[in-house]
Amino acid sequence: MFNKILIANRGEIACRIINTAKQMGVLTVAVYSDADKDALHVHMADEAIYIGPSPSRESYLLGDKVIAAALKTGAQAIHPGYGFLSENAGFCRACTTNNITFIGPPVAAIEAMGSKSAAKNIMEKANVPLVPGYHGDDQSRDIIKKAADDMGYPVLLKATAGGGGKGMRQVWSESEFDEGLAAAKREAMSSFGDDTMLVEKYLTQPRHVEIQVFCDNHQHAVYLFERDCSVQRRHQKVIEEAPAFKMSAKLRAQMGESAIKSAQAIGYQGAGTVEFLLDVDGSFYFMEMNTRLQVEHPVTEMISGQDLVEWQLRVAAGEVLPKTQEQLVINGHAFEARIYAEDANNDFLPATGKLSLLQTPIESEHVRIDTGVRQGDEVSVYYDPMIAKLIVWDESREKALKRLAKALSEYRINGVTTNIDFLYNLATSKPFIEEDIDTGFIEKNHSLIFHDGAQELLNELPIVALYLILSNEKKAHISAAQSNDPHSPWHHPNAWRLNEAHTHVLVLAHNDDEYTVTVEQLFQSQGQGSDVNYLINIDNKQFDCQGTISNNIILVNINGHRSQATISVDENNISLYRENGVFNFTHILPDCGQLDIDDKHGGLTAPMNGTMVSVLIKAGDFVKKNQPLVIMEAMKMEHTIKAPSDGTIDEVFFQAGDMVDGGAELLAFSTDDE
Ligand code: ADP
Repeated sequence: MFNKILIANRGEIACRIINTAKQMGVLTVAVYSDADKDALHVHMADEAIYIGPSPSRESYLLGDKVIAAALKTGAQAIHPGYGFLSENAGFCRACTTNNITFIGPPVAAIEAMGSKSAAKNIMEKANVPLVPGYHGDDQSRDIIKKAADDMGYPVLLKATAGGGGKGMRQVWSESEFDEGLAAAKREAMSSFGDDTMLVEKYLTQPRHVEIQVFCDNHQHAVYLFERDCSVQRRHQKVIEEAPAFKMSAKLRAQMGESAIKSAQAIGYQGAGTVEFLLDVDGSFYFMEMNTRLQVEHPVTEMISGQDLVEWQLRVAAGEVLPKTQEQLVINGHAFEARIYAEDANNDFLPATGKLSLLQTPIESEHVRIDTGVRQGDEVSVYYDPMIAKLIVWDESREKALKRLAKALSEYRINGVTTNIDFLYNLATSKPFIEEDIDTGFIEKNHSLIFHDGAQELLNELPIVALYLILSNEKKAHISAAQSNDPHSPWHHPNAWRLNEAHTHVLVLAHNDDEYTVTVEQLFQSQGQGSDVNYLINIDNKQFDCQGTISNNIILVNINGHRSQATISVDENNISLYRENGVFNFTHILPDCGQLDIDDKHGGLTAPMNGTMVSVLIKAGDFVKKNQPLVIMEAMKMEHTIKAPSDGTIDEVFFQAGDMVDGGAELLAFSTDDE
């Protein structure tokens, strides 16, 4: 085994790798940029080497600097994590040249999987099933069109150099073919400088099911079962699970064996993932092979009881695989939810800021949190805005899913906008629970996940109002008890009510809608809490309510219906976690006015490092609130920056094609009332 390894990465995956290395008695070296000088991974490692400025192209992507750090510290091997240099054949080769072990596959395997059409050629020869289609060298329009016509529409055109969903176009009929081909080629040329295309049958309801494989240098290969990663937004995974639902032992074995064939066809070593599309009829097709550890590997660890990073180190050090196929068994069910600093309601726009409060669910055999940040840390514009991976495990899918919802409702993050509500709504939605899932899940279930229903909301409002009233009463009692004034009216259990208005009026806002809620206290009996009745009126609808609160749980009885809810309050923002999802409200205080919700969106500065894709306005334009102003691309996705209010564009500082640093002012803007 190695004495010392260097981790050429940052954030949660660097911390994850350091943890295992520590357990194995292997020393670790971290690398860091300016933005990361106090990062968790730097503190956890035995040594750390500075490699440059914050932008990753000036630090984490510079193979030479990483190798120099390894040579300087005497690290014998480099673990690249995922992203950055992990699938860079040149870097892998440079490690070998410098006598450093690359903890990953051989160079040739990385190169073989670099082009989609070359990968398909190799898989075809190895008898691995492919989506019907054409991936030949002859790129003439007629040949590609004939292939599409012969297999029948819809088809999918894909750039062979593609990645991140770029250079892909669905074509639904023959008449759309030419336009689709031109658009896909244009996008491929501008994104990858190569417009070679392949065409595939477009599956309309596929699932994304991938197999974890492992090979050592002694001719052994095993598969550690599958992960279902069908829930995707813009072709990026959101929640992953293992094992896949509705999976027979026979299909699992067939897919596992195919994945091993794929790996062996390219002389694979180490951890790899073979991604398949699984069609409704149970046919499956090779999509691509990722030649590294995947973000979602923890779900496989939870159900197999194996530490995949330990396996990687052992294999890289020349040992045989720790288990044979027969020794590997599936135990229970696991989910992973990717917690991001992003605004799901604004097209998943990345968010930045300081994690002023970071309270996580308690870790146990059921709950695991892989993270690279602590309370007080900054989610910067420079890197992927992932805050943590929340992983849960239980005996069955049903139980594990309940754990996921509970853990999500216990997460408390202030300071940056997160996708926790979105994940909670998704995890508690009926079709997700009922396994009615394919890659179109989020689009199909938009109204469930984003709660567009007004009626549903009306039933939740009384709970929030009651919570606010009860917690206010409780606070008043506590401060009276602490005042040490024996004559304080608060010390008298009932007296305080005499001075209080019997009717409270609250204004609660949900998105842009405001609701006036009248709460009348009925003095049916003495005391506080469940024996006090409240009559709540919203839009002339009456609710007869009782409730008690304890910490952030409220038990309520509304019109005879008893239930419970978890509530979190951050200043005047209130989140209500229910079985059917989370609802967010703003409590509008009479003397403060409404909080400016747009404050959270970062105004008109770039929310991340990226490229300007298009500028939709020019200086002098008058714009309306929420009108799209510019489109930026970062983290493989396009993000639209919208006007925070009605106003005038004074100046535009960037044009299409420009690289933009996060935090840079994009345009000068004056609001109407200035
Ligand atoms: P990229 O490398 O750009 O991420 P992939 O080939 O891995 O592209 O495909 C990404 C996603 O696109 C898949 O997870 C799946 O959701 C969808 N997809 C790819 N090929 C097909 C197909 N033939 N039919 C339907 N969906 C597909």
